[in-house]
Amino acid sequence: MIDRRNFYIDGQWVAPAEANDFDVINPSTEEACAVISLGGQADTDAAVAAAKAAFPAWSMTSKDERIGLLERLLEIYKARQDEMGQAISLEMGAPISMAVSSQSGAGIFHIAGLIEALKEFEFERPLGDHAPDNAILYEPIGVTALITPWNWPMNQVTLKVVPALGVGCTMVLKPSEIAPLSSALFAEMIDEAGFPPGVFNMVNGDGLGVGTQLSGHPDVDMVSFTGSTRAGVAISKNAADSVKRVALELGGKGANIIFADADEKAVVRGVRGCFGNSGQSCNAPTRMLVERELYDTAVATAAEVAAKTAVDNAANEGRHIGPVVSQTQFDKIQGLIATGEAEGARLVAGGTGRPDGFDAGYYVKPTVFADVTPEMTIATEEIFGPVLSILPFDSEEEAIRIANDTPYGLTNYVQTTDNEKARRVARQLRSGMVEMNGLPRGAGAPFGGYGQSGNGREGGEWGIEEFCEVKSVSGWTATA
Ligand code: NAD
Repeated sequence: MIDRRNFYIDGQWVAPAEANDFDVINPSTEEACAVISLGGQADTDAAVAAAKAAFPAWSMTSKDERIGLLERLLEIYKARQDEMGQAISLEMGAPISMAVSSQSGAGIFHIAGLIEALKEFEFERPLGDHAPDNAILYEPIGVTALITPWNWPMNQVTLKVVPALGVGCTMVLKPSEIAPLSSALFAEMIDEAGFPPGVFNMVNGDGLGVGTQLSGHPDVDMVSFTGSTRAGVAISKNAADSVKRVALELGGKGANIIFADADEKAVVRGVRGCFGNSGQSCNAPTRMLVERELYDTAVATAAEVAAKTAVDNAANEGRHIGPVVSQTQFDKIQGLIATGEAEGARLVAGGTGRPDGFDAGYYVKPTVFADVTPEMTIATEEIFGPVLSILPFDSEEEAIRIANDTPYGLTNYVQTTDNEKARRVARQLRSGMVEMNGLPRGAGAPFGGYGQSGNGREGGEWGIEEFCEVKSVSGWTATA
């Protein structure tokens, strides 16, 4: 069994102040594969104190020095990409091929992308020609607490740690206690890269323990959180007393509007997009809205794609989907599938129970519901499993209304060959991101949501600004 009981504090691997063992479960087998410790107040305090002590010197380093260390981190990460993929696959059940390429690869993509964005970023700027002696300085906000989820572990960790390091913040990372192995490996990489002690610290723990201790800590200046809306609300309330900045990346219930004139691969792409990572992506297109003319064909195609989607152990090579992450998530998804049936949606693929051939592991059948109405539970709640809801629509206005009829607003999708219509719809969708016709957002595009999907923007210059204070100085170039 892997032993990851120690925390990384002030440049050292240290034992927790009090033993509090917690098993990491392999979702493919339901067996414990590693043991970590859940930290307590003394561990949190030690990590925050180390970050606070390291801040004065780290915040005054030059951009070039910080970029140099990040470039070293990138090289180390690339050399250990496979190892990182294995850790992610084991802890959260992403199939190994995808865990190495997409999950682990996301870390490389973000470290490299944020280094480029940092190179471009002007930390000192003139206010404008009208006030030639005025300067605007972007400065690191201070000690940051970075709290991350299990579903795309390195994607989330690098989107926070890299810009925080890049602007000169110091930090305490608390990864998900369900998927902590990838972050322990990441801490080893930080150590190997040679960042000064105390700049980066990592403490494991749960939300009620270390998570809450960090969000309320008087010496933490900012919390950057990715996870559920429930936890985001709790963190915001707890952080309010000390007026911390709180950046939130929360849940979603993405609509995928497929017009009758969409390209012929649009439906297949949409179903695969929903099932990828076993449906455990905040930006998954989980509500497929289909124009009436195409509706019956789309339902038949979606059922076919679901039936052909293989489910298997995450350790096996291949293009299957793996289990979902935990017993809790498995039970929640089973309950929501049953609710979908009870509320009258038409089940056209999958359903409750494990797929044939499995009697252990958190495997869920790829499931498609047709004739879903906007008020049904499966159309409103984030399911976080391979479950697609298909809803018909008759007009552009109706599609936009249904898409926007959610407290979330992360990513929506539009499929049409009419460019004018695509843009018209994109402008009216209330979400931080719109992806059209299968084209991905480019490197450095901001990731974040409207409404209950959060208030943060990660990646590119937006993700860098998030960790900065803005200082306005007059007399900067005064000659009088
Ligand atoms: P979660 O909210 O249960 O946990 C996320 C992290 O927060 C974990 O580290 C957990 O220990 C911690 N936490 C939980 N309660 C806390 C509290 N009260 N105070 C402080 N910390 C607390 O979420 P999860 O189940 O790990 O992840 C799934 C959720 O994350 C989904 O809702 C998904 O949509 C969302 N998500 C959003 C994005 C995005 O960028 N918008 C990306 C990935 C995942």
